[in-house]
Amino acid sequence: MKKRLESYAGIVGDDYIQGIYDLGAYCENKTMAHVNSTYYGGGVAEMLQTYIPLLNDAGLSTEWRSFKGGRDFFNVTKKIHNSLQGMNAPITKEDIEYYENTMDENAQFTNLEWYDLVVIDDPQPCGLVNRYLRKFPYLWKPFPLLLNLSEIQKKQPWVWRCHIDLTNPNKTTWEFLRNYLEYYDAIVVSSRQYRLPIKKPHSFIAPAIDPLSDKNKEISDSEIDRQLERYGIDDDMPLLVQVSRFDPWKDPLGVIGVHRRVQKEMKCRLVLIGSMATDDPEGEKIFNDVFRDVEKERDIVLITAQNDLLVNALQRRADVVIQKSLREGFGLTVSEAMWKGTPVVASRVGGIPLQIDDGVNGYLVEGVEQCAERVSHLLKHKPLAQKLGQHAKEKVRKNFLIPRLVKDEIELFRNTTRPTVTRTLHGGVSSLLKQLEQLTLLPVLRPRFKQVFRQRKRKPVKPRPLL
Ligand code: UDP
Repeated sequence: MKKRLESYAGIVGDDYIQGIYDLGAYCENKTMAHVNSTYYGGGVAEMLQTYIPLLNDAGLSTEWRSFKGGRDFFNVTKKIHNSLQGMNAPITKEDIEYYENTMDENAQFTNLEWYDLVVIDDPQPCGLVNRYLRKFPYLWKPFPLLLNLSEIQKKQPWVWRCHIDLTNPNKTTWEFLRNYLEYYDAIVVSSRQYRLPIKKPHSFIAPAIDPLSDKNKEISDSEIDRQLERYGIDDDMPLLVQVSRFDPWKDPLGVIGVHRRVQKEMKCRLVLIGSMATDDPEGEKIFNDVFRDVEKERDIVLITAQNDLLVNALQRRADVVIQKSLREGFGLTVSEAMWKGTPVVASRVGGIPLQIDDGVNGYLVEGVEQCAERVSHLLKHKPLAQKLGQHAKEKVRKNFLIPRLVKDEIELFRNTTRPTVTRTLHGGVSSLLKQLEQLTLLPVLRPRFKQVFRQRKRKPVKPRPLL
């Protein structure tokens, strides 16, 4: 079923949705591309599959382009990812060569010059930028636009969107990344405190979840039972859950340590669910390490299936959701559990403190010991757990739902493509009217979104060569 922004009006309100349609109306006939490295697995792919259709619905024609790379390339990019998050895994000359060659290969079939804005997600495709360099300085931009000669230069800005935890990167790898970032026009991070040490305009956009997706929508108790039964998960004892790729930064062995400590006080079951992402070659190895560690423990269940309804059911049925990450870009799984009113005990790292206010809507912890202590406390104090869960849901409702992200992306588009006097002239009278309308000088011209939706005639996206 086609995703429509108006479906979210019941959750965030008509006015909010109307505001997004109004913003989107300024972007008619404009195009944007998001480039990442996988269509499947992990938080970035999770968000793109939700908000790209919604951006299109809002009026900004947006495409999702995925980067092509083999296992060896993703071994290199995982190493880059790990060392950017602080692991001692310095990249070698051969790694850089491999990375560069893959950029060259991809540049042969990514015709990105036709979009008005290109957003690159994460380090994997970051190096594509210097395959699309401007032939003329930025200051020249209005002139070719005025003369309708925009093709003679790289006309669009490029934005790099950071989804990883760069608080303590390996210096050499950061320098490697920074060399590419110099070519970008703007950087997006999740919040002000994650500003990067590079002189570029920054935008601050927190990730968000889709409350209507299979993963987050309301489901009945009988559906939850059905999902859990299929995986042999009984409800004979309290349930602890961590939903995360099998990745060293998600610390699955630490979560098992937490479970063992809690078990000393009361019986409880731990489910670790982690599907494999195509751009993460480490998953299998980490899974095998975890499997060996818990082979004989009957109260621990490991699942590698990709099943959104199961994730939904586990996050709803869990007595406590754990997110014991050692580094974390944002941690969508935290918002997902909070949205379901389930109390979350999570590490005080990366973007997690943006979501959890310690003691108000969950707990922030450091280390296995403290995590186990908080989990036990919540298992013993149900009303407290319930109260934290209620506050958690409200926090997500106000801050981390997908319509807000769609709005932020359109604003990013408008700010980064900087409408110039030339563009306003291009837009003519209609653009002027829209600006007046935004200033609410002509409220009578402000149509409701349903009418806008019906009346809006989409102009076709600019033709560009087929791949
Ligand atoms: N996820 C999933 N199935 C799994 C494990 C993870 O669907 O078995 C999803 C999870 O629900 C979340 C995303 O993958 O939407 C992970 O995003 P997060 O930001 O937490 O971590 P990342 O993997 O991007 O580091």
